[in-house]
Formats: sequence, C-alpha cells, structure tokens
Amino acid sequence: MIKNHINAIQSQIRRAEWVYSRLPRAVLLLAVSKTKSAQAIAEAYQAGQRHFGENYCQEALAKQIELGAYDITWHFIGPIQSNKTKLIANHFSWVHSVDSFKIAQRLNDQRASSLPPLNICLQVNISGEDTKSGIGLAELAELSQSIAALPNLILRGVMAVPEPELDFEKQSQPFRKLHKAVAELNNPKLDTFSFGMSADLDAAIAEGSTIVRIGTALFGARS
Ligand SMILES: *Cc1c(COP(=O)(O)O)cnc(C)c1O
Repeated sequence: MIKNHINAIQSQIRRAEWVYSRLPRAVLLLAVSKTKSAQAIAEAYQAGQRHFGENYCQEALAKQIELGAYDITWHFIGPIQSNKTKLIANHFSWVHSVDSFKIAQRLNDQRASSLPPLNICLQVNISGEDTKSGIGLAELAELSQSIAALPNLILRGVMAVPEPELDFEKQSQPFRKLHKAVAELNNPKLDTFSFGMSADLDAAIAEGSTIVRIGTALFGARS
C-alpha cells in the first residue's frame, strides 16, 4: 500500500518537473512520518524511500533506534524547543524549522565535532499570520548572514508552510515571493527550497521547490 502511494507521488513529482521545466530529479520527496510507526517507515524504505521527516524529537529518536540498521537520512521539521536542541543537533542530518539566531547558535554549539555540519533551513512565515512560526521575509538577509559564521551549520535554504489555498495561482504567489527573496541574497550555497505538500505540490515545483514534504498521502491519515 505505502509502496503504491510512494510510486504515485514520485510519478506526480517527475511529471511536474517535466511540465514546469525543472531538471529531472531536482525535487526530493521527504516522507513525513510523524505519529507513524517504525514499521510503516520500514515499509516505505523497502519501496526505496530514504529521506524521512519527523516533528517530535522523542518520538523520532525511538524510531531511529528501532531502525538503526537502515540507511535513512532524518530531517527535523517541527517546532524547536530550546531544551531539545542538543538531541536535534546530533540525531538529524537536516533541520528545516530554524526560526531564530538563538536556536541556530544552540544547534551549532551542540552539534558533535565528530559529525559533519548540520544542514539547516530557515523557516519563513510567508503568509504573514501571527499564529505561525517562522521568521519574516525582512529578517532573512540579516539572519542568513549571522548564521553563515556558525561553523557546525550549513545554511542550505528556506522552508515554508503557506496558508492553504485551492487556486493554483494563489498557491504559487508565496512560493514565488520567497524564491525571489532568496535569489536576491545572491548566495550559491542556498540551494534548498523546502516547500510543497500534497495539496500544493505542483505550484511548489513550478516555483522552484527542491524538497516536498508529504505525510498523509503516503502513510494515510493521522489519528
Ligand atoms: C505534518 C507536516 C507535513 C506533512 O503534512 P501532511 O498533511 O501529512 O502531508 C509537512 N510539513 C510539515 C512542517 C508538517 O508538520
């Protein structure tokens, strides 16, 4: 079952890459496995899936222990509490949800020197609601500069979760705006755009997404 879902989403991604003139395989499928069992992850792995995203630190660590023999790249995509930064810094390859210098600094200071630098994205609040986490677009330039000085982090790009919209053009606008803001920073290291979920996958890929984050469409609804 999960295998069929992965194949279907991969086909949709490949098709969108072609339709919107992206390079083949420019877009990575991140399987969001929060609340799902290690067994579900193992099933996705058997179908070829290697990148998994988790939102809750303790839950993710329990699954990582169970799946220790698997060659999985783990991405942290949830809100980051200060008291969890040490675990997050050392048990993930990617953190998509960095939204302050303080959190970036803690991740940098706590990342073990035996590990390669941690890949991070800044979470940007592109819809501009007060309720959502993420930095404002106006903070992007300064924050990316200060993070560049942290040796144990590599700032790879941005992550966004815009307000749900049904219309393709309305879905595209915030992605386009964010893509433009990053391009204006003129930093070739910023090669990652973590945006696009099930409902806005095509618009995201049209606007330059390099990582799409899909949960429900792969694993089924969360209880
Ligand atoms: C849960 C989650 C997803 C996946 O959402 P689905 O609706 O299950 O596809 C993607 N990104 C983030 C940040 C999430 O928290």
